[in-house]
Parts: sequence; C-alpha cells; structure tokens
Amino acid sequence: MHNLGTDVVVTGAGPTGLMLAHELALAGVDVVVLERHPERTGLSKALNLQPRTAEMLELRGLLDGVEARSYATVQDGHFAMIPVGYDGWDTRFPFQLGIPQAAVEGFLEERLAAQGTKVMRGSEVVDFVQDKDSVTVRYRTDGGETRLRAKFLVGCDGSRSVVRKGLGMGFPGVDGEGFGVVADVLFDKTPAGAQKQWRTMRNIGEPTGETTFKGLIPLGEPGLYRFVYGDRASRPADMRSTVTHDEVRQALHDSYGESATVSEIRWASRFSDAARQAEHYRAGRVLLAGDAAHIHFPAGGQGLNLGVQDAMNLGWKLAATVHGWAGDDLLDTYEAERHPVGAQVLHNVAAQLGLTPRSHESRALRAVFADLAALPEVSRYLSGMVSGLGIRYETYGTSHAALGTRLTDQDVLTDTGPIRPSTLFHNGDFVLLTTTPAHIDAARSQAPRLTTQLVTELPWPSTEAVLYRPDGYACWTAPTPPR
Ligand SMILES: Cc1cc2nc3c(=O)[nH]c(=O)nc-3n(C[C@H](O)[C@H](O)[C@H](O)COP(=O)(O)OP(=O)(O)OC[C@H]3O[C@@H](n4cnc5c(N)ncnc54)[C@H](O)[C@@H]3O)c2cc1C
Repeated sequence: MHNLGTDVVVTGAGPTGLMLAHELALAGVDVVVLERHPERTGLSKALNLQPRTAEMLELRGLLDGVEARSYATVQDGHFAMIPVGYDGWDTRFPFQLGIPQAAVEGFLEERLAAQGTKVMRGSEVVDFVQDKDSVTVRYRTDGGETRLRAKFLVGCDGSRSVVRKGLGMGFPGVDGEGFGVVADVLFDKTPAGAQKQWRTMRNIGEPTGETTFKGLIPLGEPGLYRFVYGDRASRPADMRSTVTHDEVRQALHDSYGESATVSEIRWASRFSDAARQAEHYRAGRVLLAGDAAHIHFPAGGQGLNLGVQDAMNLGWKLAATVHGWAGDDLLDTYEAERHPVGAQVLHNVAAQLGLTPRSHESRALRAVFADLAALPEVSRYLSGMVSGLGIRYETYGTSHAALGTRLTDQDVLTDTGPIRPSTLFHNGDFVLLTTTPAHIDAARSQAPRLTTQLVTELPWPSTEAVLYRPDGYACWTAPTPPR
C-alpha cells in the first residue's frame, strides 16, 4: 500500500467518533477525524452516562475527568419512566452520571488533542470509494475539496450518515409516527413538584395521556431544566422545522399551568420515534458505529452510551488489524458482537414504548409491570439491559463462567497488596491476571500487546489465569491442572 494519508479516517466528532479516535490513537494508529461543524455546537441531546460506560472510561483513566464535569449522580435508571436500580450489579458505579453530551464531547476532544490528534473541523465528508487496499475519502472545506486515502473509514456521522448512505447499506426499521421536543428552559418560578437536584429518575417524567408524555430534568443550574414533551400519535409536517418559543411556552403551560413561569428558552429541538438499524456494521474497509448504525427513540438514556460502547469494542480490533497482528476474523467480530447489542436496544425501546398507557388494558399492564420492576431480580435484568452491564459476549472454547463477561473491577490481591485491575488497562493493552507465571507466554501468543499481573488468587475456582481484552471482557482462561 502506497501514499496513504493516514491509517483510519473517522467521520464525525460526536461521542462515538471521539471515543473511537481516542482508542485508535492510544493504540498508536494514525487517525484523522473529519467533522463538518467548524466549531463545537455546545448543544446536548444526551444528559447521562450509564454505569457500563463509566466502567469503560475508568479502564482508560478518563472517568475522573468526566466526573469533574458532571453535575449529578443519579441513583437509578429507568425503563419506560419506571425507575430501575443498579444495585443488583457488581459494579463500582451503580448510578448514572448526569453530564451534558457537550461536556463529554469537550472532554474527549481535549484528551484526543493531548494524544496529538486534532479534530479537523469544517471538513464535511462528501463521498468515498474503496478498493482492495484502501479507502479514498472526499471531503469539503472552506478551501475546496480534498481527498484523503486511508486503510479504513469509520462512519460515526450520526443518524443521517453519509458513510452509511454511500455504502448503500440497508437501514431497515420503522418510521416514526410521533414526535418529541427537548427544550432547555430557565424558570423564574419552577413548576410545583420539580426536583431541585437530579438524584433519581423517580417522578422525572411520565405519560400524560394515551399517547403524550412530559418530563423535567434539572440541569445543575438554579432554575434551569431540560423539558421534554411529545405525542407519539401525531407529528409536525416537517420534523426538521424550528421549534418556536411559543410552542414550548404553550406546552409548558399545558403541562404545569400557572405553577411555572419562564424567563428564557435556551435551546429546543425535535426528535422522532423512528427505529432503524444498519443491516451490517462493516462493508470491506468501511465500518459504521453509533447513531450511524442505529437510531431509536431516546427511552432509557441509551443512545450515546451505546455509541461509546461500540467505539470501545471496535477501537482495539481495528488497531490490531491496522498493525497487522489480526485480520478479517477479528474485525468481523465487531459486527458479530455489537449488532445483536444494538438490536436488543431497539427491542427494549420498543418494549418501553409498548408500556405507554394507551388503553384500559395497557394501563393495567403498565401498573403490573411497575410492580414487577420493583422486584430485585427484575430491576437487575432491566437495568442491565439499558446500561450495558448485562452484556455477555459469546466466546468459543470452554464454558468458563468468566468468559465473555466484563471485568467487575473488584480488588485483586498481589504480593504487594490489593490493586484495582482497571488501573492495568490505561494503555489499552490486553490484561492477564494470573497466579502462575507459566501462563504469560501462552497469553502473549494470543495478545501481543499485553500487560501482565501476578495475583495471589482469582475470584473463580480452579482458575489460574484470566485474559481480558482491552475493552474489559474476559476472552481466555487457564484452568488449574488436575493433580
Ligand atoms: C432528544 C434526544 C435525547 C437524547 N438523550 C439521550 C440520553 O439521555 N442518553 C443517551 O445515551 N443518549 C441520548 N440520546 C441519543 C444520543 O444523543 C445519540 O445517540 C448520540 O449523539 C450519538 O452519538 P454519535 O457520535 O454516534 O452521533 P452524533 O452525536 O450525531 O455525532 C455525529 C457527528 O458527525 C458529524 N457529521 C455528520 N455528517 C458528517 C459529514 N458528512 N462529514 C463530517 N462530519 C459529519 C456531525 O456534525 C456530528 O458532530 C438522545 C437523543 C435525542 C435526539
């Protein structure tokens, strides 16, 4: 391969593209991020990080920086606005972090720049062509059009992805029937009953009629709230039309009457309840991640988290392929693992929408479901589904209980005292925890970039070694030999 401009072009500097670029740069891959916006917009659709995303950021030593920019710790998640707890999960972070998407993006962009990779803003990808060895990406800037040749292109360019469309990739699913609006509203007089600080999903939002809903989430500044409302049975003629302040004021009045007065509406935007997923996440040298690969109604606070977790799954696999120690088989596991996860999210969002109290029967169903969700096992199941904590990837070989599961990051004992295993993942290597040095060579033959840690015991019986992938899932174990 000759005259390559870079190893990987990432299209889009949203949370997915930034996380992926971070992972690639950490692994020594030459990456260029092309972003059409000349400046960061500072606007936030998402407001939360789920526990599994927090765990993944912790693996890279990024969580402290994110926590410093967060404004709330929310003790639960929700399923169809029915609170579900994370306490049934073995995690250091059994809560959501309240943090605007723009703050996550700003932080990731800073970390990326610290690694020497700058986002090329004002660079809009127009199209691309791929051949056996490379992808040539055409993008537009103020100065005209430029071409950049790379080994791989990843479309992290959101729901209307030019990369997905350029592939002619199927995007099957359902068109939305309704609409929602998010608006950041500064109140003079806060609506009665609104939480002052965001600590729980309890009473944050609710269905208000057979198809309508509303919610009010504190944004960490006195009087400032995210107001969400909509109707799942009707939509404006033009979903891209500007949301007028009058429209928001009317909706606030309909929801809270005289109990609220508004001083300022800072930002408002529409969203749809369409649900679609790309048929494939890979076509040759082009891959899709985040909203470019899946879109759904923002129920449960999942979309950004799903995209960041896609990026963590793809990053090390793509890096290994670029560096030449893994081939198509490994890269294909990105789709094999993440497509079902995306499908499952679309499925659970549909189930959440199914719990809308549209009829006498569905109101009864919702009430019964809320009773069930209060049971610890059910709550654990549902919170595992919306957070990603419940993911277990399929593995081959043995049926060891650890395989395919995530690192829970409980302290492990070493000769010099207890350590947190997550600290071993900061440089993006595979990590081997073993009681026996003899396993180190075997692990290194599978994972050239390896950090090893001798421990005095492992939390699984009859196990001498567990190898973790860079994204924190166990992929190989060594049993204690029979006496
Ligand atoms: C109202 C609403 C509320 C939401 N709330 C939550 C929530 O609470 N929790 C949650 O987890 N998720 C939530 N989401 C979903 C979340 O916002 C998205 O899943 C997330 O933004 C996806 O990130 P992404 O990086 O994949 O795509 P995006 O954030 O869409 O980023 C794509 C980037 O690509 C750029 N781009 C696009 N085309 C091109 C091009 N041709 N060339 C160069 N650059 C391009 C765009 O400018 C953009 O910067 C919500 C969504 C909505 C609509």
